[in-house]
Amino acid sequence: MFKKLTLEDLDVKGKRVLVRVDFNIPLDTKGEITDDLRITTALPTIRYISDNHGKAILMSHLGRPKGKVQDDKRLTPVSKRLSRLLGKEVKKMPDCVGAEVKEAIFKMKEGDIILLENLRFHIEEEKNDPTFSKELASLGDLYVNDAFAVSHRKHASTFGVPRLFPQAAAGFLLKQEVEYLDRVNNPDRPFVAIIGGAKVSTKVPIIKNLLKKVDTLIIGGGMAYTFLKALGRPIGHSLVEDDMVDVAKDILIMSIADEVPILYPIDHLIATSMSTDAQTKIVHRGGILEDWYGVDVGPLTIKKFIDCLKGAKTILWNGPLGICEIDRFSKGTRELANFIAASNALSIVGGGDSSAFVIKEGLFDKMTHVSTGGGACLQFLAGEELPGISILTDK
Ligand code: ADP
Ligand code: MG
Repeated sequence: MFKKLTLEDLDVKGKRVLVRVDFNIPLDTKGEITDDLRITTALPTIRYISDNHGKAILMSHLGRPKGKVQDDKRLTPVSKRLSRLLGKEVKKMPDCVGAEVKEAIFKMKEGDIILLENLRFHIEEEKNDPTFSKELASLGDLYVNDAFAVSHRKHASTFGVPRLFPQAAAGFLLKQEVEYLDRVNNPDRPFVAIIGGAKVSTKVPIIKNLLKKVDTLIIGGGMAYTFLKALGRPIGHSLVEDDMVDVAKDILIMSIADEVPILYPIDHLIATSMSTDAQTKIVHRGGILEDWYGVDVGPLTIKKFIDCLKGAKTILWNGPLGICEIDRFSKGTRELANFIAASNALSIVGGGDSSAFVIKEGLFDKMTHVSTGGGACLQFLAGEELPGISILTDK
């Protein structure tokens, strides 16, 4: 159960509703939006405010301008796309604070939508500066956070601003993210999690938290080689974090103590380098050659992982099983993604690269939930508090 006030609990009619959204979208060199998921997923909240005669004042960051105005990080392409998607004009402000913004907001009519300029043009945003927070807060009567992806940050717009409102509520996207990700705390069983990706160090808190919740844990990707090294297996030149080998051993011991089986790759696609034109071969467990790199899981591993997932009622997936950006090394990740997409289990995908892969493969709609929050999602799955959510008003 979601325990925070939500947008539907607010009476928005005639009110200035200050909404933190995450429009940190990818732009190509020409300034064209290459993926508008972060805009489309915010539409329900924006439409609700406008349709219910509120005045929506949207605020977001884009990229890392570090307190300087940078023309290629203006939110102009976003306001244009938003206007088109909503079928109504979304006026973009030249700044996020100041007299001109105040005047424009003063002139707003019910149902109008305004987009403030990139918050991170002011260094005060990331510093959670109290004066800047006050200025932003003065622009609204009500506050809504719909930016799950930045809710792990204690910034002005996510933390300093909502503190100044008697009513700070969650938008629809944020609520949906929390409700789905929270299923890991109360899953239909069997619950199987697959953790892959590059670095053990970034995944240790999640693995430790999940060991208390899952029925089986599957480990793949570059991360698996640190565990295989801990088990004394040859790993050649594969990605490894030597300072994490002891932590991997601790996790292995924890899994025995918690009686949670961990599955590892039992065969590998190895390559002479991590590039497209490398020579490759499949080797069994223990067969990784000295100068070669493990770049993907092998066919027996895929079968073993999928056999385990067949009985699952809840599947959580974070982290690719191989170097999925390179087509030749993406088979394991693709087969896993396709299996999860076709399964009847409740499926949750988290992590920036894993979500991007699912979108690229056209499987987004086939998963129960694909998180829009990279770091925020990982922090949530590690069982840690997200300040931007904790600060919202309790129900
Ligand atoms: P997410 O963003 O989904 O949490 P990560 O950031 O942890 O995932 O990991 C994604 C990265 O892991 C990708 O760039 C991928 O190339 C890399 N990766 C996966 N398997 C390997 C491997 N065997 N060797 C090197 N890198 C790998
Ligand atoms: Mg990543």
